[in-house]
Amino acid sequence: MALQDANQKLEQLANLDGLTQVANRRCFDARLKAEWRRLAREQQPLSLIMFDVDKFKLYNDYYGHLAGDDCLMRIAQTVQQTIHRPADLVARYGGEEFLVLLPNTDLAGAIKVAQSIQQAIHALAIPHVQSDVKNIITVSLGITSRIPIWNIRPDTLIASADKALYDAKQNGRDRYCND
Ligand code: GH3
Ligand code: MG
Ligand code: MG
Repeated sequence: MALQDANQKLEQLANLDGLTQVANRRCFDARLKAEWRRLAREQQPLSLIMFDVDKFKLYNDYYGHLAGDDCLMRIAQTVQQTIHRPADLVARYGGEEFLVLLPNTDLAGAIKVAQSIQQAIHALAIPHVQSDVKNIITVSLGITSRIPIWNIRPDTLIASADKALYDAKQNGRDRYCND
């Protein structure tokens, strides 16, 4: 029993981001690889949302790093709660960037999820007086969706979401873009 407990704890530590308690990059990479293969076989869509906190450097500079950490924790936990299907995965990609993997979900479905993430973060209404986007914390989101092809690398999905996120930033932040 004790050994089982210890193993379970170790496995959690290896897959969870210490600060935000959502999945870490390692966990995400493994899941992406598995879902990519599975959905190529099933010819079903796989969607990915990448989002990044707007003007977060200014937030840290003004409110301090501890407040910054707290903000990231609240964002991650809020997004985790807006995601409902058991196969969906919220992960911290690094810094103030997060990923949401949505298996068997097409672009229309992924857009709905992105909208609910954006709304949930608005609803937190975390003050950010230094932001020129809004006076509260906002995020920009990049969405991509495709039916995986087995001999194409799964990280092309990350690259597409990243590009769409870049477009959302360029177009004024606090919004989503898709490819
Ligand atoms: P943009 O709207 O273009 O995304 O601007 P930004 O300021 O959010 O982007 P930038 O990449 O310039 O800065 C990201 C900042 O996020 C840098 C750092 O202060 C903060 N940050 C990254 N990781 C952490 C973390 O783990 N904790 C805290 N408190 N801050 C972090
Ligand atoms: Mg960033
Ligand atoms: Mg940012």
